[in-house]
Amino acid sequence: MSLFKTFESNSKNTNDIFSGAAVEHVKCLIIGSGPAGYTAAIYAARANLKPILFKGIQPGGQLTTTTEVENFPGYPEGITGPKLMDDLDQQAARFGTDIRWGIATAVDFSQTPHKVIIDEKQLFTADTVIIATGATARYLGLDSEEKYKGSGVSACATCDGFFYRGMDVAVVGGGDTACEEAIYLSGMCKKVYLIVRKNFLRASRIMQQRVMEISNIEVLFERVTKELRGNQVVEEVVLIKRQGLPDESEEVIKIDGFFLAIGHDPNSEIFKPFIETDETGYVKTIPGTSKTNVPGVFACGDVQDKVYRQAVTAAGSGCQAAIDAERYLSHK
Ligand code: NAP
Repeated sequence: MSLFKTFESNSKNTNDIFSGAAVEHVKCLIIGSGPAGYTAAIYAARANLKPILFKGIQPGGQLTTTTEVENFPGYPEGITGPKLMDDLDQQAARFGTDIRWGIATAVDFSQTPHKVIIDEKQLFTADTVIIATGATARYLGLDSEEKYKGSGVSACATCDGFFYRGMDVAVVGGGDTACEEAIYLSGMCKKVYLIVRKNFLRASRIMQQRVMEISNIEVLFERVTKELRGNQVVEEVVLIKRQGLPDESEEVIKIDGFFLAIGHDPNSEIFKPFIETDETGYVKTIPGTSKTNVPGVFACGDVQDKVYRQAVTAAGSGCQAAIDAERYLSHK
């Protein structure tokens, strides 16, 4: 599910819908509550921009679905994702960020001040907007995957792994996320199959090593998922081994849970009528800055970064966005 609903109105009907509605004006509106959004909030609040931050559908962002974060500087023993996000929330609030529940459902960046609609009913005008909407987990696109969503199919092992204690599960993907999910699940499940479409893992060496060392994880290379089967819930996955090759074959594996870990899509839909994105939907920023093609609108974190996608780089870009917003306002 996208964090931010698809843009359905254009600038004209946005005005029509909200003519006469109470409008709140803000110097700096931050959309999103991952490391990028919160860091932008900390810097913007300390620069006296009196930011309002809207949390979105997944408050705390993707890190709330991660267990241990070992690579965020300053935590020699590691920290859990939810705790890190909670700390960032408190830090942003401490400097006066107005943190609110709400989802940005439409924007109009055609003129200043910019307009942002929250929860389809509340209109905000903003001198600056910081887009920090992150990215959302990808699915394979199989009919059977859709059928069993919530009945054996999940894109978040940390959220749903608990339900599969003592059972057999599969994780699809060959990147760091897939390895991390497989390792997490191996601690509570009987058996974890890691389904990888190529004949190698894309994950970092340390993650690969950890996966290979765990006895109840079995890596199935060169397997493509064909379908999921089961009565009311997932009971088995049908895989194609070495698809397209002369020795292609089909195999069926008994599982209780099927976890997706095949990457993410940027949550940029509502901005696309105004903000330039690349061919995969990532918001384009002027290199070395957080500036988008619209003056006064800045982007940070995973919605504009398909290369690094780390909590620390997201936080760093959030800092840039707040500084860029502050400089934009002072030049005005
Ligand atoms: P990713 O690196 O893009 O890996 C996605 C994986 O899913 C790839 O192995 C890809 O296969 C596979 N895949 C994609 N579409 C597929 C499909 N339709 N069917 C089967 N497999 C499919 O994504 P990620 O693992 O989510 O990681 C994203 C970024 O976050 C990376 O930079 C990663 O290093 C970082 N990250 C870091 C940590 C950490 O350091 N603790 C944890 C998680 C993520 P191919 O290899 O064949 O393309």
